[in-house]
Amino acid sequence: MTITRHGEPCPLYRTPLLLDVLQVRSAQSDFPTTERVTGRRCPGCQAARPEQWTEAMRDRYGDE
Ligand SMILES: [Zn+2]
Repeated sequence: MTITRHGEPCPLYRTPLLLDVLQVRSAQSDFPTTERVTGRRCPGCQAARPEQWTEAMRDRYGDE
């Protein structure tokens, strides 16, 4: 399942990023065994400064 969680502060502004986190559960356990961040979002910056946003994400996290 995928959950949304607040992450580190946005590189363009101090609001926390929204992280899309994929949780993988094993068949034997109800507890998530692996978590993988599949996306990072900052609605305000993405709307207001899409080019800077893309550049900042590339600088910080590489192409994802
Ligand atoms: Zn932002």
